[in-house]
Amino acid sequence: MSQAAPSLAPPASPRAALLVIDVQNDFMPSGRLPVADGDAVVPLINRLGARFANVLLTQDWHPADHVSFASRHAGRRPFEQIALPYGPQTLWPDHCVQGSEGAALHAELELPHARLLIRKGGDREIDSYSAFVEADRRTRTGLAGYLRERGIDTVYCCGLALDFCVAWSALDARADGFATAVIADACRAIDLDGSLAGAWQWMDQAGVHRVTAAELLR
Ligand SMILES: [Zn+2]
Repeated sequence: MSQAAPSLAPPASPRAALLVIDVQNDFMPSGRLPVADGDAVVPLINRLGARFANVLLTQDWHPADHVSFASRHAGRRPFEQIALPYGPQTLWPDHCVQGSEGAALHAELELPHARLLIRKGGDREIDSYSAFVEADRRTRTGLAGYLRERGIDTVYCCGLALDFCVAWSALDARADGFATAVIADACRAIDLDGSLAGAWQWMDQAGVHRVTAAELLR
């Protein structure tokens, strides 16, 4: 059964935050883990950001030998799945290595009033799609506590990639009790073996709102 979706505080409310996920060079069309049309979200996210009092960013930020990299596992290729102690893990091309140009935020992202940047995936043995809880589903990033301490109860998610880091972050925001929306056209997806349809299905079931940028910008 689907959960009821709690109502969203509007963008300008001090109770609402825009969570801008992984708008980084390696996820752009010319990057090491390209998301088709990924750069198209940048101007839209800049416009959205201007409407929010609270803007937070995430940055995928891996050590060079991270467990999610196919190159760490002999005989394995990117986009295969393997079993890790915490569960199944999709393997990726090397991407967003700490301090690299690929890990940098897109140069045209303009969110000067953003207050917090969460770097995730920094443990070499644990991936983290979600901005809230790492892939072992136990290690927390501290983001939920930050939001609560600032009186924020509504999280709007945008960025890359919709069917992985955005979806996992939105699902965890809901699970932590936040009213949550995904701004669909301010995201782009990887869509690996039906992952995009699956992500929307889980988010619908969890009570994550699906909104458009136009609804928030008018
Ligand atoms: Zn990653």
